[in-house]
Formats: sequence, C-alpha cells, structure tokens
Amino acid sequence: MSMLYLDVDTQLDFVFPAGALYVPGAELILPRVAARNREAIAAGHLLVATVDAHTENDPEFAHWPHHCVAGTLGQRKPAQTLIEGLRPFHKQTTDIFSNPAFAALLDAEKISAALVYGVVTEICVLHAVRGLQQRGIHVSLDSQAVKELNPAARDLFFAELRDRGGAIL
Ligand SMILES: [Zn+2]
Repeated sequence: MSMLYLDVDTQLDFVFPAGALYVPGAELILPRVAARNREAIAAGHLLVATVDAHTENDPEFAHWPHHCVAGTLGQRKPAQTLIEGLRPFHKQTTDIFSNPAFAALLDAEKISAALVYGVVTEICVLHAVRGLQQRGIHVSLDSQAVKELNPAARDLFFAELRDRGGAIL
C-alpha cells in the first residue's frame, strides 16, 4: 500500500445537528465521505479514520464545548461512514500526529500520497494535512467532502495546501 485515505473526525457530535459541537451543514458531506471510504477499500488503499476521544475533563474543553467524550454516543461515527477494513486512530487534541501510532503507520505502509476529507476543514483537517505534507506526502483534499466553521480561515488553509504542492479536488 502506498496511498492513504484519511477520514477526519466525521463523528456524531460534529456532523449531526444535535451534536455537541455541530459544524453547520456537515451532514451534507456524509454521502461523499462514505463513497470515498468505499472507494479506498475497493482499490486496496489504506483507510484511516481519525477519531476524537476525549476524557471527561479534557484540557481541550477549556477552548471548546464538551464533545466526543470516549464511549458516548456523540463520539461514534455515523454508520454510513463505517466499512470493514477502516482503521480508527484516536486522538485527544486537534492534531492526529499527537498519536505517535499514526506516524508509525505511515512509515510502515510507506505512504507517499494521501486523500483527505472530513471536519473541521481549517482545524483538524488542516493539522492532518500539515503533518502529512511535512513528511513529504503528496496531499489531495476533496473539497466536496469537507466542512468548515470559518470560510476565511478555510481559504487561507487551501492557499497554504496549494503552496506546499497539494491539490484541491
Ligand atoms: Zn476535540
């Protein structure tokens, strides 16, 4: 395997209107996320889902509403995004590279290219993309399968991604 598909934080608390940290409109990207996940498995690529998994008194809650506490309903992924072969990686911060097992997997699988999607575009997707690009991995982002909170911040991130040689699909 050399290609990674990365489904970032599509969890009930983020993508459903009743979620604890709902990203407005995020439910609309779910069919596309599900399609990308199926595509990854069908093609034999590595499919990883980053999954926020907080403790009850997580430091992140100083900055954000209580969300994605491990074991709660809101922390789960919508059924349509789940597929046999998907590998979840937990994180307690906005950066998946805070989980050293993720970078170790990239090395072990000799990942050279990645397709990234999910939420929130200018926060957790951004940190994932930066970490991948810093490791020399070519990043494509599916603009139809991400959702932002702040359009201006999203646009700055898209410019940065392109400046570093990435592609917006
Ligand atoms: Zn979080």
